[in-house]
Amino acid sequence: MSSIVLFGPPGAGKGTQAERMMQATGLPQVSTGDMLRAAVKADTPTGRAAKAYMDAGKLVPDEVIIDLIKDRIAEDDAAGGVMFDGFPRTVPQAEALESITSVTHVIAIEVPDERIVERICGRYSCSGCGSVFHDTFNPVPSNGCSCGNWAEKRRADDNEETVSSRLDAYHEQTSPLAEWYRGKGIFHPVDGDRAIDEITGDILDALKA
Ligand code: AMP
Repeated sequence: MSSIVLFGPPGAGKGTQAERMMQATGLPQVSTGDMLRAAVKADTPTGRAAKAYMDAGKLVPDEVIIDLIKDRIAEDDAAGGVMFDGFPRTVPQAEALESITSVTHVIAIEVPDERIVERICGRYSCSGCGSVFHDTFNPVPSNGCSCGNWAEKRRADDNEETVSSRLDAYHEQTSPLAEWYRGKGIFHPVDGDRAIDEITGDILDALKA
């Protein structure tokens, strides 16, 4: 089993690209953020352990995340590998991942900090299918999402105050992972401050390497 990691700051477009890559690679998307939000909504023990960290824009403790990933990876659809979105976010998480699956490519979607706030504060998704949109860069069509079940959803943590904590967490705890993966020769940076299709093209090229 071999997997891909989509790496980058909050709001870099990992979820948008993961949706497209799922179609291109056939690998299921594993987003720890989505899994945690589902756990919070269902009020599970994991959700209760994670909620305060998420509301504050801080990283959820490694043990909680690693347990979540171990359970997810044991599911049938993960047997051929997965595409991680938002995981790993710390060196201990990456070390744990090494014992769970082999990672062939780490795709780093790079976006400067000054672009992140407008990207995050303008984004929303379709509660019917999860497709991600943006007020300015990628608005939903006037007749709603193509899935036919259009209803707008905005994340509680997509506000200016929480974004700055999330960026701090990214720089302090997550970005050191870039060097860690670079040293393993599987790190592929992609300029994420461009049109969505161009970024997808670069990711597909990187996956051929
Ligand atoms: P995301 O949807 O990836 O932006 O994640 C939303 C929030 O969930 C983050 O701000 C963290 O609080 C938490 N989270 C998601 N993935 C992780 C992870 N791999 N490690 C720690 N916390 C995480």
